Parts: sequence; C-alpha cells; structure tokens
Amino acid sequence: MSSPTLALERTRPVSPSKLASFTTCPLRYLLETERPANGGLSRSPMALRGTIAHTLIERFTGKPLPTAQVLIGQFHVLLAAALTRDDAGPLLKLSFEAAGTAGILNSAQVVSACGFAMRVLKTRPQGQRATPAATAGRGSAGPLGPERKFEAPSLDLAGYIDLAYADSSGNIHIVDYKTGSVLNDDGAPRPEYQLQLAAYGVLAKKVLEPQKVFLELAGASSSWQGELTADLEATVLQLVDDLRHQLPRNRGLDASRLAKPGIHCQECRSRPSCPSYVNCLRYASTGDQRLSPRDVAGDIVEAYEKGAFTSLRLRTSNGYTVSIAGIPTQFLQGATTGDRLAGYSLGYFDDLTSAKFAANFFIYRADNPAASAFEATLKVSA
Ligand code: SF4
Repeated sequence: MSSPTLALERTRPVSPSKLASFTTCPLRYLLETERPANGGLSRSPMALRGTIAHTLIERFTGKPLPTAQVLIGQFHVLLAAALTRDDAGPLLKLSFEAAGTAGILNSAQVVSACGFAMRVLKTRPQGQRATPAATAGRGSAGPLGPERKFEAPSLDLAGYIDLAYADSSGNIHIVDYKTGSVLNDDGAPRPEYQLQLAAYGVLAKKVLEPQKVFLELAGASSSWQGELTADLEATVLQLVDDLRHQLPRNRGLDASRLAKPGIHCQECRSRPSCPSYVNCLRYASTGDQRLSPRDVAGDIVEAYEKGAFTSLRLRTSNGYTVSIAGIPTQFLQGATTGDRLAGYSLGYFDDLTSAKFAANFFIYRADNPAASAFEATLKVSA
C-alpha cells in the first residue's frame, strides 16, 4: 500500500534552532518549522518546565536577584497559569485537576529548574547593553539584550537569541540557555546545540559586524564557551545553503521525497504526521530500527469504556494483540471496533530487557498521574 501524500512548503527564513533536524531529515525540519503545533506529539511536562525557567530568567533579568523561595513560588504560579490555559494539552489538564502541580512535575524537578534559573541570573554579565561600537550604524534601538530577534535576509536566516551582549572591546557574546546538560559524555558540546549556537553567531556577525563573536552554552549543570571560528562559520553557511537548495522558499514540496527514515525517527516528534513513518508503523515488522518501542498501530478489536476512560485491544498487521489502557475517551474521537488506530509515545508496563516488544501500553495513570504518558498522541482512521 502507498504512503498517504503530504505537500508542504517552506514559508519562513532558515531557523537556527532546527538546523540539526535538517541534517538528519529535511522533512523533519519542515514539519517542525511549518507545522510545529499540528500533528506532532503532545506537549511534555519537561518542555513546559523549560519554557517556565526561561520566563523566570527573562522576568528577573535587570532586577534584584530573587530568593530561591520567590523563584519557586513564581514557578508554581506560572505552571498553574499554563495548565489552565485553553492550549494546555488535555492530559496535562487532567493530571493537574487530579493532583495539582504535583501531578505534572515533582518537587525535585521544580527545584532543579529554579536552581538553573538562579544560576543563570547570578552569572548574567554586566555589559548586556549595546556599546556604541557594537551598534554603530544601527540607530539607538540596538538588538542586544535577552530574547532578541536577529534577521539576516541576505542569508535567509532568522532566529531569537536567548542573550546577546557586547563587551568593552566591542566583541559580541551569544548565550543560549538549556535546561539539560549541554555536554556529551566525552565532555564535548552536544553537536546539535553547538550548531544552533554557531548559527546564532553567524546571524550576529552578519547583523552587527563585530571583530569577534564568542559563544556560550549555559546548561543546568554544565556549560561550554568558545569562539565562532572560521570552520564553524563555514559549516553553518554550507548547511544553510544546502537547506535553501533542497527546500526552496514558497514552493510546494513532496514530503515523500524529503523523508530520510532511520533510527533517528524514534526521537522525531513529528512522526505522527510523517507519511513515511506512519506507513512503516502500520506495516513494518516489530523490531524495525526506525520504530519507537512506544508506538503501535493496528485495528481495534475490543473497547471497554469506564467513566471518562477507555481501554482498547488492537490487532497489529503482524498478528499480535496489544492493549492500551487509560485512554481519555475524548482522545478517540468516536473510534470504535473495526477502526484503525495508531498510538505514539505511549507508556508501557512491559520490561523490554526480557520482552521482545511492548504489548501493554497506557496513557493516563489514575494511580500516579505524574507517571502518565503526557506526550501520547492517537490517530484514528476508519
Ligand atoms: S519520522 Fe523519520 S522520516 Fe519522518 S520526518 Fe521524522 S525523522 Fe524524517
């Protein structure tokens, strides 16, 4: 059977934060930049945690350093506000209603996010404002400071930089904050982070024309500092050129020609909307290296509804029967026995060191809401 077709086009400048996605799969880059809120996995608590940590950093930059208690209090206020907004995921809302913010993030996760924000605030450089040398020719509204948009139309490149500041020599410093570790086990910066940072450096160099650009990755427990070298700059420019060539702006592109499936598909958040992956999940054999063990597809053979939740049994294309428990019934959009269903990023109870594959999946955990599979996404077809 052929894959469902999908046409996309690149309507935006090249995004530094998604360049690493392009290096693994051009389709992934397009899905992440053109359809970021449509068709991918649901939002995770850890993503929410990162967003709130960034908000705290912005909120207290340039103000007296808050105490740890104030930061933690503000974190909970922001978290509760995010969870009551209309765009919060239904599973996040459900867990929040059942167990409050503890149903989303445990106290250690909150403390570590606030600790990260505090470390960043304490190490904020003094010279964040643009010096005359750095902003010469740009007028009084220089682009330096936190969360500033940089655009270089001649490169077709644009992005928001966490922090850009000039030192007393007129050199530009670019800082990117990450709530996780920024280093690999060997102590080298994670390549995808370094690529993103270098692309910001290229942007800053193009816009501000300083003598030198210095780069910094600031993580929760690690950091990396370096300079925008000629090699890094050449790597970024070559990649941007390749992207512009393969994904020309405002031209319809056939998704099936852009997909580059591989083991990296397991980490791709856009896989529910990728025709190549969807087809692979439905028809490839269990154990295919492209497939995440958290994903499953099959025909619904039994459905049990209890209260607001439904449990299902599915028969996969290779004849296995698997179950999915704790499905908020609203996720099923009326699907019933005989319909086809694909589940992505589900939780599972199986021990994969002894079982060949997962067969007992779950979404919501009423016994422990914080352990729910928050990123779970279901797609139903008749
Ligand atoms: S699932 Fe794989 S092939 Fe599809 S967009 Fe993601 S990385 Fe590319």
